[in-house]
Amino acid sequence: MRIFAASLGTETNTFAPIPTDRRAFAAAYYPPGTHPDTPTLCSAPMIAARRVAACGRHTLIEGTATWAEPAGLTGQAAYESLRDEILGQLQAAMPVDVVLFGLHGAMVAHGYDDCEGDLIARARLIAPDAVIGAELDLHAHLSAQMVDNADLIIGFKEFPHTDFLARAEELTALCLRTAAGAIKPVAAVFDCRMIGGYMTSREPGRSFVDRLQAIERQGGEGQGGILSITVIHGFQAADVYDVGTKVLVYADADPAAAAVLAEQLGRELIAWGDAGVPVHLKTAEAVAEAIRMPGGPIVLADRWDNPGGGVAGDSTFLIAELLKHPDVPAAVGALWDPQAAAFCIAAGPGAEMPLRFGGKAAATSGTPIDALVRVRATTDDLVIPFEQSTVSLGAAAAISIGTLDVVLATGRAQTFNPAVFTELGIDLAAKKIVVVKSSNHFHAAFAPIAAGIIYVDCGGPYPPDPARIAYTKIRRPIAPLDPNPWLCEGDRHVSG
Ligand SMILES: [Zn+2]
Repeated sequence: MRIFAASLGTETNTFAPIPTDRRAFAAAYYPPGTHPDTPTLCSAPMIAARRVAACGRHTLIEGTATWAEPAGLTGQAAYESLRDEILGQLQAAMPVDVVLFGLHGAMVAHGYDDCEGDLIARARLIAPDAVIGAELDLHAHLSAQMVDNADLIIGFKEFPHTDFLARAEELTALCLRTAAGAIKPVAAVFDCRMIGGYMTSREPGRSFVDRLQAIERQGGEGQGGILSITVIHGFQAADVYDVGTKVLVYADADPAAAAVLAEQLGRELIAWGDAGVPVHLKTAEAVAEAIRMPGGPIVLADRWDNPGGGVAGDSTFLIAELLKHPDVPAAVGALWDPQAAAFCIAAGPGAEMPLRFGGKAAATSGTPIDALVRVRATTDDLVIPFEQSTVSLGAAAAISIGTLDVVLATGRAQTFNPAVFTELGIDLAAKKIVVVKSSNHFHAAFAPIAAGIIYVDCGGPYPPDPARIAYTKIRRPIAPLDPNPWLCEGDRHVSG
C-alpha cells in the first residue's frame, strides 16, 4: 500500500493574547523526511507509519510535520501556507491508498474556525478513494466536517496524554485494514451538549477509560463489532461552534451499533456532573493547605496558567503568595519570561541582582515581581522528557529569593517533568511546595515524587469557568451555559 503521512498541529486559545504566526511553527517544522524518530504530541502517526513501512510491504510518502506551542489565533496566511504545502505534497504523492494526519483538532485561524475539518475536506477532494485517518488530541472541537470527510478519527484516551503513540499505531493499523477491505468503519457521534472533561489520573476517569479499552478489545471485526471509541473532552478556551464533549464510536459496517454505544457512553458522562474534575483551591488557601499537609513536596498545579492551554505561563499570583511565607522552601517553574531569563543568563551563575520578572503578557498574568535575586544556574537549552517525546523550553535560568527557587525560561512550554527543576540543580526533595505551570500533564511524572497534589485556581488567564466565558459562536443549548437538554428530556432522575 502507498501511505501518505503529514502533521499540522496547534491548540488555539482564542482568548489568549499571544498571536500565532508562521514563525511560531519554526521550532518544530520538519519538511518531508526530516522528522526525528521521536514523535511530538501530534506527529505520532508519522512515526507509526514509518514502523509499518519498515516491514517492507508498504511505501510511506512523508509530508511536512509541524507544530506550534498552543497560543492565540493563528494567522490566516500561516494556516493557509502550511495547509497548502501539505495538500500539494499529497497531490504529488497520488495515487495513495491511505492518508494519515497527525492533527490536534482545536486549531483556529483567522477565517477558519475548523482548520482540521478544512484540511481533511480538501484532502478528500484530492484523494476521493483513499482511506483518510486522523489522530486528534482529546482537547479538540470535533466537527461534522472532520467526521464526514475522514474514514477514521482516533483521539487520545489518556489525560495526561500518555498514549499519543499508542493511538497513532491503532489508527495506522485500522486504516490499513480498511484499505485492505477487511473492515468498514462507520461513525456515530453523540454530542453530550456540555463543556466537560475528566482526568484519567483519577477516578472516575481512570476506570471509564479502562472500560472503553475493554469494549474495544471485545469488539473486533464483523458486523457491528466496535472498532474504536474516542471521547473528545473539548477545549473550552475557544469561541467556536463545536466546543464541548462528544463521543465518537466506529463500528464495523453497523451504524446502529455505533450510535447506541456512543449515546450510552455519552449519557454516562453527562450523569457524572463535576465528578470528573478535582476540587480547585484559590491561591492563598492552596498555599496554606500545602503547608498544613504532612511531608513534601506538595505539588501545586497552576492549572489556568498552563502554556499547553495557549496562555503565557507568566502569572505571578502563586509567587507573590509564596513570598509571604519566606520560611517555606518552595520552587516555581517554568515561568515564561524571555527578557528576565536573558538578563540572568548574561549575568551568569552566582550573580546577585535586582530583577523584575513575570506578570507581563496580559492583565490576567498579575503584576511583575521585583526582587533581589541570586542566579543559581543557567542552561542554553532546557530539554525535558514528555512521554515518548522531548520538549525544549529554550535557554533558561534558575533564580533564588531566599528559599524560593524560580525557573525562568525563554521558551514557552508546559512543566511536564521534574527535569524542569533538576536540570538546573534544584532538589525537589528539599522543597515543601513545588508549583508547576501545567493543567494535568505534570501528573504522570510528578505524582511519583509528590507527597500531595493540589489543583489551584488563581483566576486566570485561561478562562477557567465556562459558564462565564463570552462565547458568541457556540451551539446552544449547552451546559453549563444552559440546562443540559439531555437531562431535560426525561432523564431528570439523573440530576436528582
Ligand atoms: Zn490535550
